[in-house]
Amino acid sequence: MSGTDAPQETAQETWDHDRIMAAVEKMFAMGETAPREARDPINQPMINNWLEAMGETDPRYSDGIAPPAMAQVWTMYGLDPTRPADDPLHGTMQIFDAAGFKSVLGTNCDQTYLRDVKVGEQISITTRLESVVGPKVTGVGEGYFVSTLNTWWVAKKNEQGGEEREAVATMLFRVLKFKPAQRKPRVDKTKLVRPQMNRDTAYFWEGTKAGELRLQKCNACGELRHPPGPMCPTCHTADRGYVVASGRGTVFSFLVHHAPQLPGKELPITLALIELEEGLRMVGEVQGNRENIAIGAPVRVVFEQIDDDLTLAQWEVTA
Ligand code: ZN
Repeated sequence: MSGTDAPQETAQETWDHDRIMAAVEKMFAMGETAPREARDPINQPMINNWLEAMGETDPRYSDGIAPPAMAQVWTMYGLDPTRPADDPLHGTMQIFDAAGFKSVLGTNCDQTYLRDVKVGEQISITTRLESVVGPKVTGVGEGYFVSTLNTWWVAKKNEQGGEEREAVATMLFRVLKFKPAQRKPRVDKTKLVRPQMNRDTAYFWEGTKAGELRLQKCNACGELRHPPGPMCPTCHTADRGYVVASGRGTVFSFLVHHAPQLPGKELPITLALIELEEGLRMVGEVQGNRENIAIGAPVRVVFEQIDDDLTLAQWEVTA
């Protein structure tokens, strides 16, 4: 999402903090929702599904007592996305969506269990908006912490034979509604430290531009060498040419560079000493996934054009 995203800019102008909190105040004023009944009474088949999914083996739960941590399960909304008009969490989320705080992150979930519930009992839930705190600047972006308090109830007869509700569990649920922080701008890769280009190395960089990995070759004795130099270290003649390498090799050694920052590079980067099929070794950056790099891993050359003047020979792991 770029900083010049027009609709979001508009939303920021029209929804300031005061307007947000005024809308939130109306949600507070609605108080606690009417009880919403669970679709089904507490039942052993659903408990069994949950026990299997969680790997829970406590024998009490195979014999009619619902695991307390299932509290939320009984009153889950189904697949229908519509929500009751008085649902304070949903209503508050809509306020923040409208105000441009469109992202959501669950941050806290504190459940309190007041008593066990048993197969056959009918659960209902009420919810109220507990608190809205913000704006806060967080690691993921600026936002508001929205807390709701759910209470689960079981209906019971009182001594006079009337109906009353008994609370069996509560849950304080907190989310952060936020605007994602601007991602750091991508680095300008043309600002990298440029390799030296001179008459000894020109053939190499002309090669990378042409999609060739060129290795210097002594025209007198045929010896290959890298890095390039003006004179053959074997026969001491200055008559030099090149051959085009296959572009295949293996990782002889490597390191992952995390710091310090390098101009034009997004860290970390992987630097490797590549052993070429032709027997020479060459230092280069390994692109992409670092998971599959290892000493001995097969690599092939890839050419990354930085700009009109420079194309780098880099490497990618092929297996
Ligand atoms: Zn030579």
